[in-house]
Amino acid sequence: MEYRIDKRDIEFVLFEQLNASRVLEFEPYKEFNEELLKMVLSEALKFASEQLAACNEEGDRAGVSFVDGKVSLPQSFVDTYKKFREGGWIAVAHNPEFGGQGLPYCIAISAIEAFSGANSSFMFVPGLTVSAAHLIEVHGDQSQRSTYIEKMYTGEWAGTMCLTEPQAGSAVGDLSTTATPIEGTNEFKISGSKLFISAGDQNVTDNIVHLVLARAEGDPEGIKGISLFIVPKYRAGANGTFDVWNDVTIAGIEHKMGIIASPTCSISFGDDGDCRGYLVGERRQGIVYMFQMMNEARLVTGLQGVALGNAAYQLALSYAKERKQGPKVTDRSSEAKAVAIIEHPDVRRNLMTMKAYGESIRALLYQTAVRGDVIRHSADPKERDAAQDLVDLLTPICKAFATDIGFKMTELAMQVHGGYGYIREYGVEQHMRDVKIASIYEGTNGIQALDLLGRKMRLKGGGLFLRWLQECNQFLEPLKVEGHPLSAMAKEVDGAKNALAEAAFSFAASGKKDPEYPLQHATPFLSMFGHVECARLMLDQARIALDKLQAICDANGIDPGDDHARRTLAEKNEDVRFYDAKVHTARFFIYQLLPQVGGYLKSIKSNDRSALEVVL
Ligand SMILES: Cc1cc2nc3c(=O)[nH]c(=O)nc-3n(C[C@H](O)[C@H](O)[C@H](O)COP(=O)(O)OP(=O)(O)OC[C@H]3O[C@@H](n4cnc5c(N)ncnc54)[C@H](O)[C@@H]3O)c2cc1C
Repeated sequence: MEYRIDKRDIEFVLFEQLNASRVLEFEPYKEFNEELLKMVLSEALKFASEQLAACNEEGDRAGVSFVDGKVSLPQSFVDTYKKFREGGWIAVAHNPEFGGQGLPYCIAISAIEAFSGANSSFMFVPGLTVSAAHLIEVHGDQSQRSTYIEKMYTGEWAGTMCLTEPQAGSAVGDLSTTATPIEGTNEFKISGSKLFISAGDQNVTDNIVHLVLARAEGDPEGIKGISLFIVPKYRAGANGTFDVWNDVTIAGIEHKMGIIASPTCSISFGDDGDCRGYLVGERRQGIVYMFQMMNEARLVTGLQGVALGNAAYQLALSYAKERKQGPKVTDRSSEAKAVAIIEHPDVRRNLMTMKAYGESIRALLYQTAVRGDVIRHSADPKERDAAQDLVDLLTPICKAFATDIGFKMTELAMQVHGGYGYIREYGVEQHMRDVKIASIYEGTNGIQALDLLGRKMRLKGGGLFLRWLQECNQFLEPLKVEGHPLSAMAKEVDGAKNALAEAAFSFAASGKKDPEYPLQHATPFLSMFGHVECARLMLDQARIALDKLQAICDANGIDPGDDHARRTLAEKNEDVRFYDAKVHTARFFIYQLLPQVGGYLKSIKSNDRSALEVVL
């Protein structure tokens, strides 16, 4: 199945909306220029469509094999992994001192969208590796940094994150894996079992560096007693070579609904009493360190959601242009011919829903990535603080909104395909199966909603939310002015923003008397927030697009308000078509999708406690 990705929209979001080239001012990026960033992006898109997409369907059919305790990926993945490494795609935005490419984070994120949309199963080994290595870079000691990072950033070794145990899923603090200090050394003996570990074993790297959460002997129960350990599959022997098996056993792999070519493993550590772990940072700080990895992984999981949603949209769009069924509803002649289904209003609505969500969520995630570059490298502490506040606030939305909507997009894409969507060879059902997991792992979307409402909204006495409100107001103010071409749309976004604030402030009051009440609305609140922020971003896109349209129309001597003249120009000028569609897409989002926010507010203000009171 051909993989298509909207390169024009990616470049628009990065360079016209978010001004990604601005990050080139930062010291580490000074040697790059916009042309180079665009070239890297083009190469990433090329690799995604030519290499990764080529083995996506085969991976889905072949799956992962588990024989004699060893896990093997499909052969096409083994071959493609070599090319992925050679291309330097593993650590695009990471430290060149350790073999990373050192490019801006926002460019890496757009590359990851392309890679995940083309083949999401493939991305587990490199994706977890780079996050694990980055955690060691930030929190490990000098010896750990020199031992592991370069080998991981270059893809010679892989990494995993090992939190989940059968009794400890969302409640990570209930884990029972133990770490016992080995006297006279800085090593620990690790003992316990982990479940559902992505890329827990494979046959493409020489070693695997598991980052394992465990409780060291004597440390307290719960989340506060957890420490983080590096537990390699092979540890160093007396001669320093990593060739001693570290008593890490793969007990089995899961048989899953989607991401079938990604190995999800049960791992036993220390069955023979000889599994060594090396403490990262300080004892009892494991969950803090792991959160760094999880926050990075949450953005990437959000990308997985929107990437597969966008890939499914592209399939649906092509299909809707080809598939003919029934005459156009406005053609009442007896000889009316069947038209492509894209002519039917209900199909158009489905397509526009996917397009509007897909483009706005892309902007939401890339905006977070650009802020990530600011946090890492801006010399201005105020700017860094502001960016950090907004990233902290919006990360649960990036993860949960993008993955819930990503799944919905694949479902709509299947609907556009009719019965053919349900058939394997059309590709869209694989996207739907593959994307579902993204709303479950990296903290379920329910847990993300609790994080937003119960934690992020309260941080700094509500200061993060107030900062966001202030920025939103500043953005809307000039657009709301009477006579501005976007005034009506800006007022709609303003109203939805006020509804969001009203919901937030009502929770502050109702939660004091009835703490369960706001929590039953945590998921709708996250969805409200996602809709408002995405509408704001779409309005911004419309603002830019209108300016560009004006300039092109001026250059061609036509009035941009003249629909006929503009459409005629759009037929020969791709930019006019793109910007014109952008304005329509923003309008569709604001008038067709954003009104859900009003419904959510009504339900929040209803004081209805039936879900809490019913006997189920
Ligand atoms: C394919 C796959 C890959 C995975 N990869 C990894 C990996 O690499 N590393 C790793 O450590 N784990 C991994 N996981 C595990 C994954 O992170 C967990 O499945 C997830 O965190 C949820 O835990 P659980 O399955 O035990 O569900 P539970 O925690 O039992 O949750 C069940 C339901 O209850 C809800 N819930 C639970 N507690 C609360 C609460 N306090 N308030 C409100 N709602 C709540 C949840 O939102 C969910 O809807 C993977 C899982 C899968 C299926």
